[in-house]
Amino acid sequence: MNTQWKNIVGHSELIKRLQTLQMEDRIPHAMLFCGAEGVGKAMTAEALAAVLLCHEPSAGQHCGRCPACHALAGGSHPDYFQLRPESSGKAAKSIKIEAVRELQAGIARVPLLSQRRVVIIHEAEKMNEAAANCLLKTIEEPAGQAVFMLLTSAPAALLDTIVSRCMRVEFGVLQHDELQEVLCRQGLQEAEAGRLADIADGSAARAMSLREPEVQELHRQALTLTERSGRLSVEELLQLAKELSGCSREQLIQWLGFVAMIYRDLLVLYSGSELPLYNRSELNRLTALLDRYPPARLLELLKLVQEYQKRLRSNVSLQLCLEGFFIRLNALVA
Ligand SMILES: [Zn+2]
Repeated sequence: MNTQWKNIVGHSELIKRLQTLQMEDRIPHAMLFCGAEGVGKAMTAEALAAVLLCHEPSAGQHCGRCPACHALAGGSHPDYFQLRPESSGKAAKSIKIEAVRELQAGIARVPLLSQRRVVIIHEAEKMNEAAANCLLKTIEEPAGQAVFMLLTSAPAALLDTIVSRCMRVEFGVLQHDELQEVLCRQGLQEAEAGRLADIADGSAARAMSLREPEVQELHRQALTLTERSGRLSVEELLQLAKELSGCSREQLIQWLGFVAMIYRDLLVLYSGSELPLYNRSELNRLTALLDRYPPARLLELLKLVQEYQKRLRSNVSLQLCLEGFFIRLNALVA
């Protein structure tokens, strides 16, 4: 686990605020850390947990030497609890009521080693309703000897009653250079980290998923398609639809996302604005497309992409859906 504030990239204001609350002994009983996956919510929660459990914290830092710090570093602190979604059989991962009950039993007694207990709940939106209601009873109790940190990338999926009882801590997305730094720390070369940071919308988790070869291939295909749109014969369109229909629904939605990024980049290039481009490493290929993609057409195309992303989420035949998309796309681009 991460016990050091200095390992966290970005979020300096937010970290300062948490440290101040800790030093003034005003850390709330329950907090909700909201933000995209991979922006640093868990690292921040862990660093705060280390300070809250330490016997001799100073200036918002844990000491690293006391028995509590040693136990935490060794993974054996009896007052430190984490809950994560688990999968059972083919069902989607979730946090079930049994896990919450077990946690409640664990935190019911007085703390053993530190002044309080700390609970981190990862992907808190994956609590099913029974589990969430059960947890609610615990966080409704007056501030006691436990601090709860609920982490989520989808706060809207949590019960309102839970959200309203937590102090909300909003994690913004990482800036390009911050994300690049995070990726370099994870062992990526600077050039690759920079390229991934271009298209990952400030999320390290998204950036890492974009490294997968199939995803990179989808990204490449999106640009090739944009170059060929409007110049494809019906046979070629159908062939393309057939090839892509081998992808999963999720992959195709992601692929349409890449197509939308290209259209958005072209709009940025038209506007002459300084906004960063998703595909800045392909600037020459983008610029060559400008004549064929005037802004009004790009807006139409973005609408088309959105419509088909929605369709793909419903239970339609992938190949039919793709054929429809390509035919309309080809007609829109002259
Ligand atoms: Zn300590």
